[in-house]
Amino acid sequence: MKNTLLALFVLSTLALNAQTTPGSSILCGNEIFSKIVREQYPELQAAFDATFEEARIPRATDRNPLTVNVVVHVVWKNPEENLDDSIVLDQIAVLNADYNRLNADTANLRPLFQPVAGNAGIHFNLAGIVRVQTTKEFEINPFGSNLLSELKHSAQGGSDAWDNEQYLNIWVCKIQPITFGGAVLGQILGFAFPPNNLDNWPPNNGAPNPEEDGVAIDYRVFGSNNPNFVEIPGGTGNLMVRGRTPVHEVGHYFGLRHIWGDGGIFGPNDCDQTDGVDDTPYANSQSQFDCDTTRNSCNNNEVFYNADVPDLIENFMDYSSEDCMNMFTQGQVEIMRNVLQGPRSGLLMPVGTQHIAGQNIDFTLSPNPASDLFALKFNLPEKTNITLRLLNTAGQSHGTLSSEYYPAGAHQINLDASALTPGLYFVEMRTEHEVNVQKLVVKRG
Ligand SMILES: [Zn+2]
Repeated sequence: MKNTLLALFVLSTLALNAQTTPGSSILCGNEIFSKIVREQYPELQAAFDATFEEARIPRATDRNPLTVNVVVHVVWKNPEENLDDSIVLDQIAVLNADYNRLNADTANLRPLFQPVAGNAGIHFNLAGIVRVQTTKEFEINPFGSNLLSELKHSAQGGSDAWDNEQYLNIWVCKIQPITFGGAVLGQILGFAFPPNNLDNWPPNNGAPNPEEDGVAIDYRVFGSNNPNFVEIPGGTGNLMVRGRTPVHEVGHYFGLRHIWGDGGIFGPNDCDQTDGVDDTPYANSQSQFDCDTTRNSCNNNEVFYNADVPDLIENFMDYSSEDCMNMFTQGQVEIMRNVLQGPRSGLLMPVGTQHIAGQNIDFTLSPNPASDLFALKFNLPEKTNITLRLLNTAGQSHGTLSSEYYPAGAHQINLDASALTPGLYFVEMRTEHEVNVQKLVVKRG
């Protein structure tokens, strides 16, 4: 299996280079990941495929804003990799703009595609920044199936994830170039695991660990105000960086595929490969980090448009210049929102809630999941006025559970979930200064 992988990688990299620039290539790690999974972990690939097909099914189109908690792990060896807080905050702002179609460059989208542009309505709440100094160097090794595993474990020189089901973990580090026999074959800018519907990933020996779920980004392409740079292979200058690589990778994390259907580097460059989204026109391969609006790699009649239309180089899931990317389509938005309300629903927070990690009065809910009676327990250092509310995923209140002064000490409030429709809820505890939120899952049977 590994020999096949190696041969394919080298051959297709050479093919890509031959078509485009001399030297090495720049790419997103999902192509390598997809290749490894398809060959080595068919059970996991089947889980990804099933989740994707499920997410494509049209659903009631509520437009509630969805809020996701994010933790950024800055894992650095050299000082320039220890990105300043201002760069992290800028990247969160770029995510919030691009996922709410508030980016200033939406007007650059060609008129043909304006009607299909979508607003994902997804908000990113920075819950924490973790900084880890390391001596390790991190690489994606397509020949040995190393998918940045060490980056995600403190004991191995990386940083342990915060609960992967409740937080979008973004690790930022220097991703080492892919080399073979001393020659640089390529540079991966980022990598994300797609969602699956399993409670846990299949326990295949060597399969990715669920604790590694999240997004990894090279430190040079994080934030639009990043002072570092990536040279374009072939000496044609530096890569344009506008914070769109994380936008692209988070798109993968929410279930999206590349617009050219991943025929690209590992598969045949043909126009039959699809990304499973109707309103992204067919493309036979990726853009080359440029802004070529004449690009029309598949001269076919697009059923959705009832015409032959050019490649959608403005899409975040292409490899065009970050200056030219400015949109997701409505079809892509549908998939991401379905994933966020399906297999990744644990990430959601009630709208408007700021979870400030480490600054809250902790409380516990047990049992959780609950079917009927459950207990809410907390411990107060002093007399405190506490308001408890039950919210749904849209942030709508199902009522105030309690609002009164509690004396210092341990407390238990017994509550009943038997009247609630099964699903995901939030219990919100407010004091004069703080808000804490815990998820409550209601299950029957
Ligand atoms: Zn990608």
